[in-house]
Amino acid sequence: MQIAKSREELSLITQQWNAEKLEWAFVPTMGALHNGHLTLVHEALKHFPRVVVSVFVNPTQFDRADDLSNYPRQPEKDAALLREVGAHALFLPSVDVMYPDGTDKDRMPDLAGLDTKYEGAARPGHFEGVVQIVRRLVEAVYPKAMFMGQKDAQQVAVLKRAALQEFWPLEIHAVATVRESSGLAMSSRNSQLSQEGLTKAATISRVLAKAEKEWKSGKTPRKIEKNGQETLLSAGFKPEYFDFIDATTFDPLPDLPSAQQGIEKPLIVTVAWLEGVRLIDNWPLY
Ligand code: AMP
Repeated sequence: MQIAKSREELSLITQQWNAEKLEWAFVPTMGALHNGHLTLVHEALKHFPRVVVSVFVNPTQFDRADDLSNYPRQPEKDAALLREVGAHALFLPSVDVMYPDGTDKDRMPDLAGLDTKYEGAARPGHFEGVVQIVRRLVEAVYPKAMFMGQKDAQQVAVLKRAALQEFWPLEIHAVATVRESSGLAMSSRNSQLSQEGLTKAATISRVLAKAEKEWKSGKTPRKIEKNGQETLLSAGFKPEYFDFIDATTFDPLPDLPSAQQGIEKPLIVTVAWLEGVRLIDNWPLY
């Protein structure tokens, strides 16, 4: 695996692949890699002969300074894991490489309000920062496709919309959420939980699975949402939201049973805090 720390070093690698007529896919990450990230690399390797992974903790998508400074960083371990799974190149830029003229936000595409709901509302400026860094990374990596996790469903929706609006010549593949055997969605943030917290955090996926059952049995969204919030609260979480939405627009579903919805991609999205850690998960109903 080759490691590039600058755009120039990266471009030497991709120029070589281009000369060999090899296409490459891209997996952007913030590092502290776990099996969720590595599954994205596996998926990319199934479809493309070359895969570039980036590890960059992007300052412009954090709305809290303490969250940015506490974010786990382990570049050597990440490089070893990526080498093991067969990634071909690791792009490991510094903040100065990605933001040579400072971190002011760039011009934004029209995101049809997707950036102001849920994660956008809870973390002001978050999606602006995500679109800004992905635009810069895509311009540096110039991939044929990008592989992302369904775990961050709103990020996928925002970037698909941005790619369309900005004519990024890029396929976006969303890969199903990878979970621990307990059901807990894998996340770099899980390392900030105690052993007890890790066990308890698996409750989130159990509540989501139960909500799906209730939905299939004909209960309506508002009732299930209330049950979900209450269960999380009594288990010791601070729930932020637990909502049935349309995965394309991120609008809430009307309070109708599943048979009367007519929505192609219904999704349950949730965020709950535990031990001061913000845990995000979602559950596709399609
Ligand atoms: P991050 O490093 O958190 O920015 O994540 C980088 C990419 O990995 C994003 O596309 C995430 O959605 C994806 N990802 C993170 N956790 C998981 C998971 N448990 N399953 C699948 N993809 C994931």
